Amino acid sequence: MNVPLLDLKAQYRTMKPEIMAVMEAVCDEQGFVLGPRVTEFEQATAQYIGSRSAIGCASGSDALLLALMAMGVQAGDEIITVPFTFFATAGAISRLGAKPVFVDIRPDTFNIDPNQIERAITPRTKAIIPVHLFGQCADMAAINEIAKRKNVRVIEDACQAIGAAQNGKKAGVLGDAGCFSFFPTKNLGGFGDGGLLTTDNSTLADALAMLRVHGSRVRYLHEAVGINSRLDALQAAVLHVKLKYLDQWADGRRRNADRYRQLFTAAKLVDRITLPVTAPGNFHVYNQYTIRVQKRDELRAFMKDKGVGTEIYYPLPMHLQNCYRDLGHQKGAFPVSERAAEEVLSLPIFAELTDAQLVYVVETVKQFFDHR
Ligand SMILES: *Cc1c(COP(=O)(O)O)cnc(C)c1O
Repeated sequence: MNVPLLDLKAQYRTMKPEIMAVMEAVCDEQGFVLGPRVTEFEQATAQYIGSRSAIGCASGSDALLLALMAMGVQAGDEIITVPFTFFATAGAISRLGAKPVFVDIRPDTFNIDPNQIERAITPRTKAIIPVHLFGQCADMAAINEIAKRKNVRVIEDACQAIGAAQNGKKAGVLGDAGCFSFFPTKNLGGFGDGGLLTTDNSTLADALAMLRVHGSRVRYLHEAVGINSRLDALQAAVLHVKLKYLDQWADGRRRNADRYRQLFTAAKLVDRITLPVTAPGNFHVYNQYTIRVQKRDELRAFMKDKGVGTEIYYPLPMHLQNCYRDLGHQKGAFPVSERAAEEVLSLPIFAELTDAQLVYVVETVKQFFDHR
């Protein structure tokens, strides 16, 4: 049997005619950058998330960059985030000459540990970027309480968490601004790069809309030095079709996660591997289903041999990346992140998986341990 980590073709097959129809319509219209298709998608997404505004842009990475720019972050400022994330979170900070100040994660959810934030705050701290890793929200009540008291902003890196929620509110309205990615592997994936910001703050929304078009509100008049980061009409049209199915896909991912728990428990594997943990109040959308396991690399090679795709998100924490050696962090500085990087393994979780495939994945893990 073959079980890929992600099969985008299976999803596409279910809605090909609908997608082709809107792509043809956009081609007939010959309007490709921003415009009514993008505005309609922004409005639909704002409504879905429950935010006052949504602003499309070219990628999740740019959404993070634009959020920081709109908040006036400058060279020398400090921004708190986690070392256990995709590079874009830290990269956006560095692009502005600001300094990423890392705070370790919790071992259960892989999200920022609120108990360690306060001691990382200095007079230069401008914002905290919690990452809703793998599709579940960081502890936003605790983070917002600290941010409010210390007068710093909160930017959600919700790139892996569209549709996730905490105590009934969706990711994207749990801080000052939310950043989303439509990279094809995300839960809402476009046919290329794309991104979006959400906010309830109209001043911030205005600034974001200006900054994404070179700091211009009126054509050829520039109020600030912005960037070129716009969402394409083709992407918006495709994403607008796919948005309708997003909850259904999240349900499928959640059903698969439940089934894995049942199967791993029945196979008596829960002493050998640690299954994902959902924090109380969280609605997890499983962009990744990430287990912890010793001998991770051996298991991964064994699974590959047996036709099961897996991936390591992420093998090297930010503080140990070559590009950040000037920050002066040593191995051991963020032990929970470092240990996670050695133990995590993401298994196939996409909605279209069959029960036979889920059973096969678990049987393959069992086989690995039976031979040891
Ligand atoms: C995907 C991702 C990003 C960046 O999104 P792009 O659209 O690929 O630029 C940022 N942060 C996290 C946590 C991500 O998973």
